[in-house]
Amino acid sequence: MPTEYTEPEAGRVHEAIDERIEDRDDWARRRRKGIPTDKQLLVIACMDERIPVEEALGITLGDAQVFRNAGGKVTDDVIRSAALTTNFFETTEIIVVNHTDCGMMSAPDDAVVEGLEAAASGDPDDVALDPALPELTIGDGSFAEWVRMTDDIDEACQAQIEYLREHPLIPESVTVHGYVYEVESNALRRPGERVAEQVNTRIE
Ligand SMILES: [Zn+2]
Repeated sequence: MPTEYTEPEAGRVHEAIDERIEDRDDWARRRRKGIPTDKQLLVIACMDERIPVEEALGITLGDAQVFRNAGGKVTDDVIRSAALTTNFFETTEIIVVNHTDCGMMSAPDDAVVEGLEAAASGDPDDVALDPALPELTIGDGSFAEWVRMTDDIDEACQAQIEYLREHPLIPESVTVHGYVYEVESNALRRPGERVAEQVNTRIE
């Protein structure tokens, strides 16, 4: 993010102006100049309106590229974006943010498939996934797999971390971590570490 400026000394106002012009130029032509994001970070998060992604991660404008979709799922287009940024934009870290009470993840498969079948008025297997690639369709019977619902957010988060870590299009040097954002407490937890559940359970 462009720097904040202190008041210039007398006779040096032009220096402050030049500094601002340089900074603005770096910001506006960042990609062309090959300047990475400030934290060299890609965030993959659910599109849910309750997740304050930047605030939860302690980052700000300019720090990261943020990819949001239903569920914060690692889909083909997430891989495409991650492969581009890690191979060409000096991104060295990926953070996945899933969350509790995620409607995109927890709705029953059948209900979602039925709803989308109705929307496609017929067989969704033939619906084109990408207008530029009409031959790319969901395919026979894999509709439920494509929406990829799950009922354990911690498990799903962990699986996505491993998938990204092992993906051949993402350099091995890239660090991948994931967290579950708790909408009820406005805090992040590492997948599988349900602290609230543990403190409220009697030790046997
Ligand atoms: Zn969600």
